[in-house]
Amino acid sequence: MRAPCAEVANKDSNDYPRLHFIYVQTINPTPLGLPMQAEIIAIGDEITSGQLLDTNTQWLSLRLEELGIRVLYHTTVGDELDAITDVFRRAIERADVIIATGGLGPTADDLTRQAVAEAAGVRLVMNEEALAHVRSIFARRKYPMPGTNEVQGLLPEGARMIFNPNGTAPGVEMAIARSGRNGCHLYALPGVPAEMFEMWHGTLEGALREVGGGRRVVRHRKIKCFGAGESRIEEMLPDMIRRGREPRVGINASKTTIILRITAEGATEEECYAAMEPTVATIRECLGDLVFGEGDDELQHAVCRLLKERGKTLATAEWGTGGMIADWLNEVPDASDVFVGGLLVSCERAVQRTLGVAPEIFGQHGSISEQVAAAMATSCRRQFGADYGLAVGAFPQHDPQAKSPASFHLALATADGVATKSYPYAAHPAVLKLFCAKRALNFVRLAML
Ligand code: ATP
Repeated sequence: MRAPCAEVANKDSNDYPRLHFIYVQTINPTPLGLPMQAEIIAIGDEITSGQLLDTNTQWLSLRLEELGIRVLYHTTVGDELDAITDVFRRAIERADVIIATGGLGPTADDLTRQAVAEAAGVRLVMNEEALAHVRSIFARRKYPMPGTNEVQGLLPEGARMIFNPNGTAPGVEMAIARSGRNGCHLYALPGVPAEMFEMWHGTLEGALREVGGGRRVVRHRKIKCFGAGESRIEEMLPDMIRRGREPRVGINASKTTIILRITAEGATEEECYAAMEPTVATIRECLGDLVFGEGDDELQHAVCRLLKERGKTLATAEWGTGGMIADWLNEVPDASDVFVGGLLVSCERAVQRTLGVAPEIFGQHGSISEQVAAAMATSCRRQFGADYGLAVGAFPQHDPQAKSPASFHLALATADGVATKSYPYAAHPAVLKLFCAKRALNFVRLAML
């Protein structure tokens, strides 16, 4: 049953553009089972000009997802009334929940109140509760209230104030009816992140649960892979990364690691994890040892885990990776049980002096070679008394014009001898060092498997 609509929009049709929407005081919650879709709108020239990074949208997206409300659109708009109004009109058409941040201040470029009123086809009216709130904040701060702040008491007719415990700008809550379907719930919050967070926890979270959020739960799992590109991995998972599949599987590459993100929706957390289990099992089966971990795992966590399981220790010698491998390993909790130490060298002389690599090896094979890497690995294993000695010989170039050597070399020394592997430099200069370091960690990981 639809809630009664107050058709104020038609009262004064000359003053307002022709309406598609009419506001109502209350509208029905989205029926059970129907997923709610949301749009987040970030308002402000500071954002569209690139001076400010819009972190509000990211934060709100995470919160909405926790309530099982799918965020389908992120919109950013500058401080221009027609543009903001247009954005709200579109959002009302396509989203069940709209959350806007910014533009609720007292100055001429704060246009959110006005834009919401125009998009909903209502006038701005003085809301005594909102005005009293603005006054109370000034009184609390013991400042006289400038006349300009009175505009913060204006709300679109039919809207309710959202309490802002520590700021002058009251938020705006409005339910907007749409003909032939469920209504749209619109919330406008101040841009200041700390105020926005408080208002979310104080009001929005509960309000959204009332209108239908939180009935469904959304959970994710991330499977991490290394050793093949995105398209190869997609090929190995036929039909999995298909639109419309449940649970959804997405793929993306982050700093040469491939991440498969599985998303399930259900009535409870347990239901979501149970729904994802067969998908995770299939991914692991299809990808085998390309998968090194889950969630926040990085290669260094996988390596330390394997070393611990096998009761082994590792030492490293790095030439060209800036000590990245040692740094990563060092950050793993309890790494000192298995990672005994690392050496960073940056020239031939240092390799000869600290690792005792004979000058003849350089003479015979050139400074960057498998043989030099093998000598580095053997020497560092011996010096640290470790079970595994891992060496990387790489010369990542930051200057894209500079000619880099064709390959980089890895060596792993164990009690049984030294294994080596060479790879072409086949990554963007920006991630070259990182790529060499990850290849090296993966080399030890695969050796232990
Ligand atoms: P105020 O009453 O403080 O003016 P407001 O609603 O008008 O509140 P804005 O003026 O749009 O908010 O933004 C105030 C400040 O909040 C910005 O200068 C910026 O530091 C921060 N801010 C605004 N929008 C965002 C956003 N999307 N992400 C992160 N920070 C934001």
